[in-house]
Amino acid sequence: MIYLDNSATTKIAPEVLDAMMPYLKEEYGNPSSKYYSLAEKAKKAVMEAREKIATLLGCDHDEIVFTSGATESNNMIIKGVSEYYGDHKRTIITTTVEHSSVLETCRYLESKGCPIVYLDVDQYGRVSPDQVERAIQETNPVLVSIIWGNNEIGSLNPIAQISKICKEYNVMFHSDATQVVGKVSFDMKEFPGLRFLSLSAHKMYGPKGIGAAVIRKESENIYTKITPLLHGGGQENDYRSGTLAVHNIVGFGKAAELIHNRASSDQQKLAELEQYLVDILSSNFGDKIVFNNDHTNKIPGILSVQFKGVNNELLLKKLSPYVALSTGSACSSSKPSHVLSAIGKSLDEIRQTVRFSLSPHIEKKDLDFFKNLK
Ligand code: PMP
Repeated sequence: MIYLDNSATTKIAPEVLDAMMPYLKEEYGNPSSKYYSLAEKAKKAVMEAREKIATLLGCDHDEIVFTSGATESNNMIIKGVSEYYGDHKRTIITTTVEHSSVLETCRYLESKGCPIVYLDVDQYGRVSPDQVERAIQETNPVLVSIIWGNNEIGSLNPIAQISKICKEYNVMFHSDATQVVGKVSFDMKEFPGLRFLSLSAHKMYGPKGIGAAVIRKESENIYTKITPLLHGGGQENDYRSGTLAVHNIVGFGKAAELIHNRASSDQQKLAELEQYLVDILSSNFGDKIVFNNDHTNKIPGILSVQFKGVNNELLLKKLSPYVALSTGSACSSSKPSHVLSAIGKSLDEIRQTVRFSLSPHIEKKDLDFFKNLK
């Protein structure tokens, strides 16, 4: 079977698994314990992982807070900022195409009386810097939270410009970078307005159940405190209590090191594979398909395609022995996609849409399967 659902999750890299195994066996120390070597080794392993992730993202190692994944990071940052600075009274600006872990968090806060502005997007799912600036001027928000790259259609938002605007207006800016880490190279130091980031290890060939919230240090009047979701023993600078999952953290660190080293070749390969697939689909299906994404300024390897008149669920079931694809986000697969709806697609068009998400570990010949599909 060809696995083309890498936006849902990725296959753990063998090197990642090898790095994790000792911490599931003999190296079982608690990194918060003291005085004996088992604990010291665990602490050292966590620090090394932190440094690898910080190198990948361009932040400092003490700005990384380990969480269970991007869902938790998004909840923690948005609820945490809203509570710390605004007692849930100050506006949050977001978009209509966020992942459900951002949207549902915002809806929860809205139910508590917090004003939320949901910015509309263009036909490819992007907001414009002007829209963000206008909304900031109108609402004096406490936080702007905008997805970096979309998990269903792959479009990239203008993060550099939004970060600049947020810095100018002294507004905290959070971006959900879960889908872009490793697929788009960036250095957080080049985005001074970007104060918070969310990511998950299992989207980048690491283990499930581990992710990070990057909480940048305060600087130049930009504050970055949050009220934690989990209170307890004070791990992770008091931001996220609970015994650290050392094996998962080590795996996350190894995955970060691998993708950092391979970033440019992986990105190039993804772009080539995507173009190859676009060509195959276009020549095989012609005007019977519609690409929901444009082909520029996007995450390489994510394609959203409408097969006109074909029910997507029936198609995916029929193809399931040969190829793993999805109808959109795995996290809200029972509901019609809010992302496709936000870019103006009708319910019928949404029910005919399939998401392809590639990995650099496949070959062009794997995609030849689609040459013969009728
Ligand atoms: N944000 C985005 C953009 C995602 O694609 C996902 C996973 N589909 C998440 C957040 C949530 O990640 P996790 O399920 O690992 O918590």
